Amino acid sequence: MPYPTRAILTGHTRGLGAAIAAQLLAQDIEVLGLSRTANAGLAARYPGALSQVELDLADLSALTGWLAGDTLIRFMDGAQQVLLVNNAGVLAPVGGLADQSPAQVARAVSVNVAAPMMLAAAVAECAARSGGQSPDTRIVHVSSGAARNAYPGWSIYCATKAALDQHARAVALDGSPLLRISSVAPGVVDTDMQAEIRGTGLDRFPLRERFDALKRDGQLATPEDSACKLVQHLLSDTFGSHPTADIRDLP
Ligand code: NAP
Repeated sequence: MPYPTRAILTGHTRGLGAAIAAQLLAQDIEVLGLSRTANAGLAARYPGALSQVELDLADLSALTGWLAGDTLIRFMDGAQQVLLVNNAGVLAPVGGLADQSPAQVARAVSVNVAAPMMLAAAVAECAARSGGQSPDTRIVHVSSGAARNAYPGWSIYCATKAALDQHARAVALDGSPLLRISSVAPGVVDTDMQAEIRGTGLDRFPLRERFDALKRDGQLATPEDSACKLVQHLLSDTFGSHPTADIRDLP
C-alpha cells in the first residue's frame, strides 16, 4: 500500500532534521532524505519508508543535475499530500566581513537560500505535473530568530534566513490553491549547530556568552520537542495561514 503522505526533508542525518525524520516516519509518512551523509539508524528502523540521497546542497550543479532526473517525481507520484521540509542549514561564516571567506559565503548562500528555493520550485512543478488530482503540497522553510533580529557576527546567517522568510511571504501571495508555505523558526535547539556557536571566539561572535548560559541553565529545547511541534504544525489545518511563524508562539 503506497504512503498517502510523503516528505522530502533536507538535513535528516543530525540534530533537528533527524528528529523531524523520526517524527514523520513514526506517523507513517514516507521520507526522502537529502544530506551529504546517510542516517543509518533510521534506515535500519524504517527500511521501507526512508530513502536517502547523498547530496552536497552547497554544490548547486549537483543539485540541478539531481533535479533534472526522475527521483523526485517518482517519489511524489500518486501521493495525496507532499511535504517539503527545507531544514538543512549552515551557520558559517561567523565574524565581520573581513573574516568571511568568499567560498564560505557561497556555501552558506547555496545551502541556506538557493537549495531551499530550488527544491520548492521543483516540488511545486512535480505536483503540477502529477497525473490526476494534484497533491496537497506544504513547504516549510526552517528559519531562525536570526531572520528577524540582527546579531553581530552573523550577517550571512541572518541574511540567508531572512531571505527564506521573504520567499515564503511572496510565494504565499501567489495564492496557489493547493500549495501552502511557511518559514518557521524552531527555537534554540540543542544540536551540533549550538555546539558550533559555543565554540566561536568572542572576537567573532560577541553574544556567545548568552548561548553558553542557555546551555548551562538547561534552556535549550531538545530536537525531539522542536521537531514534534514543527511536524504537528506542518500537518495542522492552520499551517500556512501565516507565511512566517515561530514554534515558541504556537499553541
Ligand atoms: P545541525 O545539527 O548542524 O545539522 C545540520 C543538518 O544539515 C545535518 O543533517 C547536515 O547533514 C545537513 N547539512 C549541512 N550542510 C549540508 C550540505 N552542504 N548539504 C546537505 N546537507 C547539509 O543543525 P541543526 O541545529 O539541526 O539545524 C537545523 C536547521 O535549524 C538549520 O536550518 C538551522 O539554521 C535551523 N536553526 C537551528 C537552531 C538551533 O538552535 N539549533 C536555531 C534556529 C534555527 P550532513 O552533515 O549529513 O550533510
